[in-house]
Amino acid sequence: MRDSSRPARRGNNLDDVRRNNLAVVLEISHARGRVSRAELTRATGLNRSTVGALVAELVELGLVDETEPSATNQAGRPSPVIVPREDVVAIAVNPEVDAVTIGLVALNGRVLKRIRYDTARVPTPEEVVNIVAAVIAGMQSELNASYRTVGVGVAVPGLVRAADGVVILAPHLGWRDVPIAEMLSAALKLPVTAANDASAGVLAEGQYGAGRGARELVYLNGGASGIGGGIALDGELFGGTAGYAGEFGHTFVNSAGARCHCGASGCLETEVRRAPLLALLGLDSTRSEELEEALLAHLARPEGPDAAVVDLLKRQMSFLTIALRNVVNALNPELVLLGGFLGTLYAVDPERLTAEISSGALPGAGDSVRFGRSELGNELLMVGAAQLAFKPVLDDPASVAVPPAG
Ligand SMILES: [Zn+2]
Repeated sequence: MRDSSRPARRGNNLDDVRRNNLAVVLEISHARGRVSRAELTRATGLNRSTVGALVAELVELGLVDETEPSATNQAGRPSPVIVPREDVVAIAVNPEVDAVTIGLVALNGRVLKRIRYDTARVPTPEEVVNIVAAVIAGMQSELNASYRTVGVGVAVPGLVRAADGVVILAPHLGWRDVPIAEMLSAALKLPVTAANDASAGVLAEGQYGAGRGARELVYLNGGASGIGGGIALDGELFGGTAGYAGEFGHTFVNSAGARCHCGASGCLETEVRRAPLLALLGLDSTRSEELEEALLAHLARPEGPDAAVVDLLKRQMSFLTIALRNVVNALNPELVLLGGFLGTLYAVDPERLTAEISSGALPGAGDSVRFGRSELGNELLMVGAAQLAFKPVLDDPASVAVPPAG
């Protein structure tokens, strides 16, 4: 992600200032979808003519459009509206144990296309590359005619080294030391950025979902293959020194816990699992989307819930509470979002879970944290992967090639 060879802050000559200001303006319009020039002036603290010049340059770079506003009821002169161009796109890729999903996502965060390619078995890296290349080849004439593709983002269910997009370990895919970014880049002739799926997810929720506006955002997702997590600070992924931060699934919660595939025992992901919940409710893994409705209906049934369901929920909640208490004490986040079946556990009794975590955490951090559920559903990883691909453009809009006129 970050270029560690460069210091975080450098001296600012005038060109750096201009490029930084371009990034600030593009970031605001990217995040809001549409923004008036007056709002940009207020939000950036820059003067009107500077904002005008920056917007003109972004228009020339082909990244935003500036349109006259339609009739307005506001008093005073209507201000032109800036929108990110929808023909500037990123390709999003998410390999999973049973499918490869490929998306086309616009600079305003809209998912324009989402293609799920089911695989008969867990795909190898080569198969993923072939599937993505075939899907993109099928769209190539449309892409050439109507879109400008800035890059590819890959959300991987595993540990991904930020510097070069190598998947160090994706246990459920059975991948180890796979240079997925390099392989896709060679096949597609585009820049490729890869990251852990929950890390991509936290970016998406922070930009367009339930985490909008949160300065310190933590995301935990529970899926078929365990519990992943990500941390975003001020809208930027916090990946740690090499990109592996946020593995809350492997925080220690139970000294008498089961052995985890990571080699330790009693990890959150061995103690809080979706499979036993599904089994008690008579659902198999293909019906995981029915879990929440089934669970809430079971808890509300007139004769009362089964003791086994109550016990399992209590057990899982208590381990989830321990993990979240640790998260709150260690990071003092503003907001913690829960996705997948962790969102379902939260939905069972949000007030109680929140109260137990907050009262167990230290005062201060425990008082100020909020909890919620992720919002973006099945678009989450497409939007998140695209965010990875857009990052170089958002960080330095002047680095993109100016599109040919016409
Ligand atoms: Zn573990």
